[in-house]
Order: sequence, then structure tokens, then C-alpha cells
Amino acid sequence: MKINFIDLQAQYKAYEQEINKEVLEVMASAQFIGGQQISTLEKNLAQFCGTKEALACSSGTDALLLALMALDIKEGDEVITTPFTFIATAEVIAFLKATPVFVDIDETTYNIDHTKIEDKITSKTKAIIPVSLYGQTANMDEINAIASKHNLCVIEDACQSFGAEYKGKKSCNLSHIGCTSFFPSKPLGCYGDGGAIMTNDENLASKMRMILNHGQNERYSHKYVGINGRLDAIQAAILNVKMKHFDKEIEARAKIGQKYIDELKDAKGVTPPTILEDRTSVFAQFTLLCENREELQAKLSQASIPTAVHYPKPLHLQEVFEYLGYKKGDFPISERVSQQVISLPMSPFLTKEEQDYIIKTIKG
Ligand SMILES: *Cc1c(COP(=O)(O)O)cnc(C)c1O
Repeated sequence: MKINFIDLQAQYKAYEQEINKEVLEVMASAQFIGGQQISTLEKNLAQFCGTKEALACSSGTDALLLALMALDIKEGDEVITTPFTFIATAEVIAFLKATPVFVDIDETTYNIDHTKIEDKITSKTKAIIPVSLYGQTANMDEINAIASKHNLCVIEDACQSFGAEYKGKKSCNLSHIGCTSFFPSKPLGCYGDGGAIMTNDENLASKMRMILNHGQNERYSHKYVGINGRLDAIQAAILNVKMKHFDKEIEARAKIGQKYIDELKDAKGVTPPTILEDRTSVFAQFTLLCENREELQAKLSQASIPTAVHYPKPLHLQEVFEYLGYKKGDFPISERVSQQVISLPMSPFLTKEEQDYIIKTIKG
């Protein structure tokens, strides 16, 4: 049995006619930047998340960068985040010459441990970026309360959690700003790079809208230093089609995720993830802990089952962040978990036969 880690081809086949039609219409219209598809997408995103504003942009990384730029994060500022995430979360902080300040993760959700945040707040702290890793949000109420007490902004890195819910509210609508990614393998993916920013703050939204288009408030009139952070119309057209099917895909993801959890909870040597009662996961990755990763990876690979490791090295131990002065042992939970995580094939198009085969191989 040949199994894909994420089956993007099956997904394209399912929506092929609709997607082709919309993409060809964009081509014929020659409206490649901005236009109807972008405004429709922004409306769809705001409606889906329940936010006042949604801005389409060029990637998840740029979404985070634009949020920090709009908050005037600069040299000397500190931004608190987790070391157990994709590099982009901390990279954008460092790119603006501000200082990423890491806080270890919570053992249950692998997300930032809110009980350890206040110790790291100084007079230089400007924002907190919790990451909703693997598709499940962090303890957002507690994080927002800490932020509000210290007058900080909270930016949710929701690049893996678009579509997830926390206490009945959508990820991306849980703090001042929510940033997501439409990288092809994310829960809602386009066919190239893409991202979005959601907020209920209209002033911030209008500032971000300018910054993502060279700081222009009108054509050739520039108010801020900005970037070219726009999404293109072809990607928006694809996303508008895929959003029509997204609720169904979230349901399929939840079902597949729950089946992995139920059937692997008694398996030897592995611990499936815990999804807390007050939230849902979109399982951007289905990631579990294992006692002997090399052995399990080899066993699965022999059965032609692809796996991945998200992420093998926490950010405080990365060469690029050596200058921050962290050392091994500073974030013991992140360090241990990074040695034990393994991600299994996961997509709404994973068939029952494929999943049964994967589960049987792990247990065998
Ligand atoms: C994918 C991802 C990003 C970056 O998104 P891109 O669209 O690839 O730029 C940032 N943070 C996290 C947690 C991600 O998973």
C-alpha cells in the first residue's frame, strides 16, 4: 500500500472542476493582483472566523511579520514565544531586530506554558506569540489575562490551527491578532504560498492593509515602510473554492484524529496527543510521542508509511539563535518532546484502509 503523508492529489481530484473553472476565469480576466477574488476571500475568512477584519497576505511568515510591524516592534523590544515551533514564529521577531524570549511548553498540549510567562515579562516586553501547535490552541484565556494585566499584545500564530475552536470560538479570533498560513500542506492550503491576518481592531487592520502594500494609503502615497505582502488572485480563487468544502474537511480530520487517538492509546511505546475538552484540533499534524523514535520510524518506513518530525530541534538550540545565549537544559520539556515526537500520515482524504494499515503496523 502506497500512502502519502498528506494527500494533496486526492484533494485536487475531488475539487478539480471547480478549481479549474475559477482559476481559468482569473486568467481570462487578467486581474492577477487584488480584485474580486481577494475581496471575496477576505469576506469569507472574516465570516468564518467571526472577526471584523480579515486580510489576505503572501504567507504565514509575512502575516506574523506584518502584525509585528503594525505594532511597531523594533530593536530593543522583547517578544515572548515558545521554542517548540517552526522557525518562522521567532524569525520574524529577530528580523525586526527585536529579541525573542522563550518560555517552555506545557506537557499536555505542547503549547506555551502560560504559568511560566509572567516570570519573563520585563519593561521591554511588547507582545506574546502563542503558537497553536499541530492544530490545537494554547490556553488563550489565561494568556490574554496576563497580557492585559501587563498591557501587551497577543498575536496567535495560528498557522497550523485554522478552523480549530477554543471555547466555541474560532482560532484566529482569540486575541488581538490571529495569523494563519495557506501553505499547501496546512489545514486550509492554497497552491503556492499564502496567508491571512484576522483581527477585530479596525485601526490595526487598516494599518496592516497599508503595510502589506508598500505602506500606501493611496496609490503612490506612502505613509509607512511596508513590504510587498499581497496574496495573488489565483491563490484567492483556489481558497474560495476550498473554503466551500472546509467544514467537511475539518470533520473528516477530527474523525481520523480521534480514531488514531482511540486505537493507539493502549499501544506499547507510544502516547497519542491529548485534545483538551474546551477545544478542538484540526490536526495539521497528527503527532504522538514515542519511546524509541528511530525504531518506530524504521518500522513504518519498511511498511512504506511516511513519517515526519515536527520539530527535531527546539529554536533556542538553533545556530541562528546562538547569540541569544540560551543553552541545553534551559527548556527541558521542549528538549525532551523534540526527541520523542513523530507525525503520522494525516489528511481528510486518508482512507479507512490506509489508517487501519498504519495503526496495525504501529501495534505490530
Ligand atoms: C507554516 C508555519 C508558519 C509559516 O507559514 P508560511 O506560510 O510557510 O510562511 C509559521 N508558524 C507556524 C507554526 C507554521 O506551522
